[in-house]
Amino acid sequence: GSIVRFEGASKVFPGNGRGGEVRAVDGVTLDIHEGEIFGVIGQSGAGKSTLVRLINALERTTGGDVVVDGVSLGALNEARLRPVRAGIGMVFQQFNLLASRTVAGNVAYPLEVAGWPRARRDARVTELLDFVGLSEKAGVHPSALSGGQKQRVGIARALATNPRILLADEATSALDPETTRGVLDLLQRVNRELGVTVVVITHEMDVVRSICHRVAVMDSGRVVEVGESYQVFSVP
Ligand code: ADP
Ligand code: ADP
Repeated sequence: GSIVRFEGASKVFPGNGRGGEVRAVDGVTLDIHEGEIFGVIGQSGAGKSTLVRLINALERTTGGDVVVDGVSLGALNEARLRPVRAGIGMVFQQFNLLASRTVAGNVAYPLEVAGWPRARRDARVTELLDFVGLSEKAGVHPSALSGGQKQRVGIARALATNPRILLADEATSALDPETTRGVLDLLQRVNRELGVTVVVITHEMDVVRSICHRVAVMDSGRVVEVGESYQVFSVP
């Protein structure tokens, strides 16, 4: 079944007086299936990031709706969005780690916000660092890590509260090819071993070819093609 459904979803950013409005997402209807790795590709400015940010309501629709796990986001206020957001993790191109906190402290952060008691939190952090292969880095600060290690911390933090959906916005774009491979392998394990639905934004075709089951191609706010990765990329 579908875990995310865009129903004629639009996001229009208002103009700034001189410039006109921007239709970042323009009437998108699209299903993301539970348990898949779904890719979103397209040129810079095509609307990929805005589309994906509609899933966790970092951006709100200005038209149409987004349904996550059967819950229509359009009607929800901030308070009622909180549990929906808790079920969705996100990782970023620039990692967005807290420089002042240790690796363990970064992973623990969402658990602290969610009010987990210390002992349960520590056990969860230990388990997550083991899963991403960074147990021995628990006590160091992010500045001491490589890019690939930083993104592993980002993924561990995003998984802390056991989300059913992981959003990855250009998660490997700041990494070299070898490091990228390791992070893609980890995203595949997140999908296969934890059963998490993964949505990957990328401008790199290799990322789509290597891990995505299905892919949507965006252009000017619209989804212009959607299908199995091998079909979308097969040359007739
Ligand atoms: P992509 O991720 O494909 O590069 P984005 O979703 O970031 O595309 O952007 C799509 C369009 O929306 C672009 O024209 C961008 O400039 C515009 N846009 C994105 N965020 C904002 C914003 N907060 N305010 C105004 N325009 C925005
Ligand atoms: P920081 O200096 O980054 O704030 P803390 O030592 O205060 O780091 O730890 C932050 C959180 O990370 C703690 O609340 C704890 O839950 C968790 N934590 C810290 N060290 C470990 C560890 N070695 N193993 C598991 N969890 C840890």
